[in-house]
Amino acid sequence: STPHVLNFGAGPAKIPKSVLQRAQGEMLNFDNSGMSVMELSHRSKTFGKVLSHTKAMIKSLMNVPDNYEILFMQGGATTQFAALFYNLVAAKQQQLGQDEVFVDYVVTGAWSNKAAQEADRLATANPAVKVNRVTHSKQDFGKYGDVAPSSAWQFSDPAKTAYVYYCDNETVHGVEFDHVPEVDPRVPLVADVSSNFMSRPIDVSKFALLYGGAQKNLGPAGVSIVIMRKDLLTDINVGPVRPLMLDFKTMADNDSMYNTPPTFGIYMVGLVLDWLEEQGGLEGIGKVNKTKADKLYEAIDTSPLFACPVAPAYRSRMNVVFTTPNEDLDKAFLTGAEARNMVQLKGHRSMGGIRASIYNSMPEDEVDQLIAYMKEFEQSRA
Ligand code: PMP
Repeated sequence: STPHVLNFGAGPAKIPKSVLQRAQGEMLNFDNSGMSVMELSHRSKTFGKVLSHTKAMIKSLMNVPDNYEILFMQGGATTQFAALFYNLVAAKQQQLGQDEVFVDYVVTGAWSNKAAQEADRLATANPAVKVNRVTHSKQDFGKYGDVAPSSAWQFSDPAKTAYVYYCDNETVHGVEFDHVPEVDPRVPLVADVSSNFMSRPIDVSKFALLYGGAQKNLGPAGVSIVIMRKDLLTDINVGPVRPLMLDFKTMADNDSMYNTPPTFGIYMVGLVLDWLEEQGGLEGIGKVNKTKADKLYEAIDTSPLFACPVAPAYRSRMNVVFTTPNEDLDKAFLTGAEARNMVQLKGHRSMGGIRASIYNSMPEDEVDQLIAYMKEFEQSRA
């Protein structure tokens, strides 16, 4: 029989077993088609129902207002670093009737840093666009793990700013915002929610654009979800020259089916969202996620051995990063964890240490088992 593992991976990450079983049950004969969902034409009625179901679930679970578009795209969240730059710069240039615009980045960890670096690169071909880091935690604090108050952020002229960008949950550094940052209401706010997508209630109307890859909270790798205000969709011939596949209006005009969409991923996300609804939606899962994170941080903070490098106000409920006093002990802890079938706990290769990713699908009971092992490990080293 299959060994039961406790999967603390950061992504691709655990998917609820009942979801996998449902997919398994539907694998050979999806919706009486006599074939799997993977083998269906994306233009078929049967797949059309899959896409509209997944979209409807996103809309209802997140309370997405009617003036927002929901897009399914490929190329991972990383591709969106470029797509949103092109499209939102275009929207601003069209609005202003001039080329010179600013793009503002809140840099709080590895992922927002990468997004800002991609904007730097693209701006070399679009010199009218100025990339501004409104804050950079690594410079402010010498390392990632805390965020300067937004009153200290150096924003560009709001009238000329195409967007303010931030990462709501930094997967590598375990840094999460517990609030939506205050920005000038004229400026479109963009958030990367890849690693805390649908993990708690969120007010979509505060954002111009939200996006994330599916492979943490929502399903398999291969599909990214973009939720954006329709008024920001801009004609492909306006603004920076961009590949058609990165053009939001082209995607929206074709209901994410300009070309072949990632059909299996869209199907799996739908199944995960059916499961999420059974958990009480974002309200329900948000409570469980908070309970899990609170008890894990409590175990770290009361421990003589473990420590968390992240400032308490910015600790992630999804990616709990911690260390022992040295690398050898980290290694011993990870080896012991493997022996207990607790897997994928190793910190990001750039960070070392330990990272427990406890996304939506991680049950509270498995967090309890991790905490029990931490106590046992502590005692064995006392
Ligand atoms: N943003 C965040 C917050 C992430 O965690 C990741 C992936 N770990 C990415 C962006 C990049 O996603 P992808 O690998 O799908 O391009």
